[in-house]
Amino acid sequence: MTKFARYEAHGEIAYGVVEGDVVKQLTASPLEDYEVTDHTHTLSEVRLLAPVVPGKIVAIGLNYKSHLGDRTPPAVPEPFLKTTSSLADPGQDIVIPREALEENITIQEEGELSLVIAKRCKRVSRDDAMNVILGLTCGNDVSARQWQRGDLQWWRAKSSDTFSPIGPFIVTDLDPGNLDLVARVNGKVEQESNTSDLLYDVPTIIEFVTKMMTLEAGDVIMTGTPGEPGNLHPGDTVEIEIEGIGVLSNPVVAEA
Ligand code: MG
Repeated sequence: MTKFARYEAHGEIAYGVVEGDVVKQLTASPLEDYEVTDHTHTLSEVRLLAPVVPGKIVAIGLNYKSHLGDRTPPAVPEPFLKTTSSLADPGQDIVIPREALEENITIQEEGELSLVIAKRCKRVSRDDAMNVILGLTCGNDVSARQWQRGDLQWWRAKSSDTFSPIGPFIVTDLDPGNLDLVARVNGKVEQESNTSDLLYDVPTIIEFVTKMMTLEAGDVIMTGTPGEPGNLHPGDTVEIEIEGIGVLSNPVVAEA
C-alpha cells in the first residue's frame, strides 16, 4: 500500500509518498516512472494540493440505493462530467457563488469514493478494471440543488469553481468495494455508508464508461454518494473521510 501526495513546499509543487507524518519527494508524478528521493518534509511543513490534476472528472449519479429516495434505480450507470476548473485542494475554501446565495440555492456536500486512473485505456473489462486504477482518494461532489433540477445541464450545479475538492492522498491497493465513508458538516455526521452499498461497483463503472470514452492517466471518477447530504453555509467546515485514505476537509465561504 502506497500513499501519494501532491504538495507545495517553499513555493514549489512536488509529488511525494507519505509514511507516517513524513512525505518523501518523488522525481516525477506517480503516473510516470518515478524514484523516491531522500528529500523529506513533515506533513505540517507542506500545503497539500489535490493529489492529481485530472484531464477530466467523470462522476456517477444515483449510485447508492440510500440516495435514490423515491427515484427508480438507473438501468445502467449514470455518468456525467465535472470540469477540471471546479477542482479544489484539501483545505481550500469551497466558495458559494454570489448568485446561489441571492437565490437561496441549497448547497450540499456529496462524499464520494474517487478513483484515479493510472493509464490511457478504452474498453476495459470488469476483470481488468483494477489494473487501470492507480489508487483511491476522497471526493466531494458539491452540488447546488435548485440549479441541478432547473438547468438543462449541470454546469453550475456541479462545476461552479471549487465544487470538486479531492484528496488528501491517493492510496493504492485498497479494496474499493468495502470502505467506510463518512461526511461531516461542522463535525456532525451527515452521510455514513460503506462502498459495498454501491449499486454499480467500481469494475462495472470502469467497464461501462470505457466502452464509449477513453480514460487518460490522471482522470478521476467519482463513484456516487450515499444517503441524504447535509446543507453547506458560509462558515461551515465539511469533511469527507474514507477508511484507509484520510480526511478531506474544506471550509465553506461566501463569494466576496
Ligand atoms: Mg455525486
